[in-house]
Amino acid sequence: MAEIDVDRVTKVYADGTQAVSEVSLEIADGSFVVLVGPSGCGKTTLLRMIAGLERISDGEIRVGGEAVNDVPPSRRDIAMVFQSYALYPHMSVADNMAFGLRRRGASKAEATAAVRRAAGVLGLVELLEKKPRALSGGQRQRVAMGRAIVRQPRAFLMDEPLSNLDAKLRGHMRAEIARLQRDLGVTTVYVTHDQTEAMTLGDVVAVMNHGRIQQLGPPQELFERPCNLFVAAFMGSPTMNLVEASLERAGDGLALSFGEHRLELPRRVLAERPALHAYAGRRVALGIRPEDLVGAGETAVADACELEATVELRELLGRTTHLHFVVGGRQVVTDDTRAAADEAGEETAGGDGAGCRMIASVGSATGAA
Ligand code: ATP
Repeated sequence: MAEIDVDRVTKVYADGTQAVSEVSLEIADGSFVVLVGPSGCGKTTLLRMIAGLERISDGEIRVGGEAVNDVPPSRRDIAMVFQSYALYPHMSVADNMAFGLRRRGASKAEATAAVRRAAGVLGLVELLEKKPRALSGGQRQRVAMGRAIVRQPRAFLMDEPLSNLDAKLRGHMRAEIARLQRDLGVTTVYVTHDQTEAMTLGDVVAVMNHGRIQQLGPPQELFERPCNLFVAAFMGSPTMNLVEASLERAGDGLALSFGEHRLELPRRVLAERPALHAYAGRRVALGIRPEDLVGAGETAVADACELEATVELRELLGRTTHLHFVVGGRQVVTDDTRAAADEAGEETAGGDGAGCRMIASVGSATGAA
């Protein structure tokens, strides 16, 4: 096992593309770190530099305290699991899993024992003699994981390992990867563009954009305290509602105005976020999570704010309902599990076209300049 230090690392490709810009990241021994961000943000490039598959233009990467900039991939003792699985089609599952070990000099007996152990952990014992073409996508993915595990590497690097699987299998494999990583305690860096995967898997999540880490922290912290609008809009599904507003003084408190609406911020919110006072008199972005908007009378938050708005569209999604409103000239969506349970047409949840009072639980709203 090992910690991985990424120290002001930059990557400029031969054509001049700067894919990663001065990224620093300390990955603790045994932790699970997820790099998440939109396509092209540089997460794969960063992972490949840690693996040694891409040269570092500037900065340093250390594994277990040792600088590895000039160490070839085969000597870094790190296993990488790719989206494409990269299994050898002519070899059995057992031989695919044993291949790396044998090449590094393990005896046949050692390799067989290690493969059996890993196959047990991954539920692959029955499949050891099959060829990859006879396996489902999920089973192939497990073989790719098994090949990484048998080597007992110092770290796992995973690049979108679940993106070729259907939604149901992805959910299942996600849980399996989380369990495996916990049981094995191996330092893991996982790349995905899917914020749900990032939220559920990572001890620590690094949100990337334009080659830089925008914010680094436990998933809940990114969700509740996004440091900028990019992170606020990226984390969460449905995405955070963002409405332009003016923040004004109201006595010794503050009020938000947008469209015909005016919300006095509860004292509790101001006590928790005194920095908001510095934005008085300025235009701000009001961020409201869809799940924090509920029908009037449905909240337990005593000092919640009330908005009146008209339901424009109702999407029934089974366990939850998305209600669409226009607030302050912007489309706003709620994610309301109670409205779904209550059945359509209820006054507080709003029937189509009906005037409706919404409650914004402002405790989790974000004021960002
Ligand atoms: P995706 O989720 O689409 O895989 P990513 O976040 O992993 O994206 P990278 O693959 O790291 O992003 O690419 C980062 C940037 O570097 C992109 O602008 C990409 O076009 C560019 N890039 C990647 N590989 C090369 C290369 N070999 N030569 C030149 N530019 C490259």
